[in-house]
Amino acid sequence: MATRIVSMDLGNTNCFVLQDKGTILIDAGGPKQAAKFKKELDQASIKPEDIKLILITHGHFDHIGSADEIKAMTGAKLAMHEADKENLEKGQVQFPPGVTGWGRFLMSILNMLKSMISFPSSTVDIVLTDEEISLEEYGISGKVFPTPGHSAGSVTLLLDTGEAFVGDMAMNGLPMRLGPGLPAFAVDLPGLKESWKSLLDRGVKTIYQSHGKPVSVEDMRKAIV
Ligand SMILES: [Zn+2]
Ligand SMILES: [Zn+2]
Repeated sequence: MATRIVSMDLGNTNCFVLQDKGTILIDAGGPKQAAKFKKELDQASIKPEDIKLILITHGHFDHIGSADEIKAMTGAKLAMHEADKENLEKGQVQFPPGVTGWGRFLMSILNMLKSMISFPSSTVDIVLTDEEISLEEYGISGKVFPTPGHSAGSVTLLLDTGEAFVGDMAMNGLPMRLGPGLPAFAVDLPGLKESWKSLLDRGVKTIYQSHGKPVSVEDMRKAIV
């Protein structure tokens, strides 16, 4: 049976519950999204305590803003890459630099709003390193591995059936960018393209990213040349 994928918008960030033999959550949305999360779970007939793992794709506030509350609600373990985990442990807001003209413009605005953004800190239970990990013990047939570039600690979850959950490795549509492609912000653009190349080489069929309408594998092949 295919893995059930439940998508939910938690503060303009697409978060995903994956359900197979076990249930996990990918990303924890922006700040103050716990009530919305509970509502979305109810609608999908999933109990909070069914979720045993929260995988954070990377340490930006729109992906970890409600991590502490969702962790308390579910009792799940939280996994995050070592290079980004300080943002959650200290509740700190970190923005990557813009890598397009539009991205730089947007970032100049975001930087002015930075002091208005806050979220609770939390603890990371499973620290991801450069090693690939299997999700078999959580009842999900897939792997998690580092795909740095948007942030130093960005990771991707790839199901054995070809669905890739890439966080902010791709973006689509306003306000981030006009069409599908690479994110408008990144700490290491060449590194990001390398991450995409190795990811596409693994036979990705469908891409689930955090902001905007889905991008296709063809979109991303074009974006990284
Ligand atoms: Zn991000
Ligand atoms: Zn994001």
